[in-house]
Amino acid sequence: MKLPTAQEMERAYKASDASYNGIFFLAVRTTGIFCKPSCPARKPDPRNVEYYLTTREAIIAGFRPCKRCHPLESNSATPAWVKDLLDRLDSDSTARFTDGFLRTSGIDPARATRYFQKKYGMTFQAYCRMRRLGKALEQIRLGTDLDDVALGYGYTSHSGFRDAFSRTFGNSPGRSRAADCIVTAWIESPLGPLVAGATSEGVCLLEFTDRRMLDTQFASLRKRFACAIVPGENRYIKQLKKELQEYFQGSLQRFTIPIVAPGTPFQQKVWKELLKIPYGKTAAYEEIARRIGSPSAQRAVGHANGLNRISIVIPCHRVVNKNGDLGGYGGRLWRKQKLLSLEKGKNN
Ligand SMILES: [Zn+2]
Repeated sequence: MKLPTAQEMERAYKASDASYNGIFFLAVRTTGIFCKPSCPARKPDPRNVEYYLTTREAIIAGFRPCKRCHPLESNSATPAWVKDLLDRLDSDSTARFTDGFLRTSGIDPARATRYFQKKYGMTFQAYCRMRRLGKALEQIRLGTDLDDVALGYGYTSHSGFRDAFSRTFGNSPGRSRAADCIVTAWIESPLGPLVAGATSEGVCLLEFTDRRMLDTQFASLRKRFACAIVPGENRYIKQLKKELQEYFQGSLQRFTIPIVAPGTPFQQKVWKELLKIPYGKTAAYEEIARRIGSPSAQRAVGHANGLNRISIVIPCHRVVNKNGDLGGYGGRLWRKQKLLSLEKGKNN
């Protein structure tokens, strides 16, 4: 699955074009809400809009479903019991949806779990937790007092809130107000949109949005950095946007943006070696294995190459098969081809 171009999506939501429902969701940074393209509400400024393929990604990024267009119900036939649950969840942030509560409402908890797992990729309980904490995180970012946030979301104690928050976002709520989180942003490129992530120290993520296993990359980031992932912009996101633009114009051959790429010692050795492959050149997996002093580890090199989280900047696209074939590319092979052509000064 792939998102349409930003231009196309912008046109679609401005025209409330219902034929795009289910194809993408738009999230508005200024309000924290995400919508279906057909939403009848006031049209947001495109500069404040982020696009997502699934409702799940929008929720994980901290957005809440719009009350006018009900984006979670995009696939029309939402059962009445689900609709009811979602309504209750959104209208009462302190409500507890225990299995007992579900049963007394005539809902089989196992059925609820199956439905949410299939539709949103998480259990109903996980969805509730994520949604509530997402709202809490937003309050914290707006500067609301921690005690008020904890109480407002149904936590009777500060520590209970802290624990729940840390389990989900991997960071204590007090610290989330600081710059201590991964800021993610959407970056347009001639080869399709990219999602970028940066900490206060540099860029830590750059992937094409339709990359295989993007979810896995997010999960590993959250684990590695033990901090929240929030949509936004910081100075490194700005720098990355500028450098990427110059790169795609062919006027930048060497990225100067600081890189934050934690990994195993082996992965780090491989990624460091990738950075040494000059612009416009390629190297074989065997070659990289030899250069890092593990000539028999070409398969492990290929694997580490595939786990690179900062595509283009760490040029994993410059690694090819010994026989000259392109080899693999997480961001799709046609892009690898295009990137290599661009660096060779060809326009296709
Ligand atoms: Zn809406």
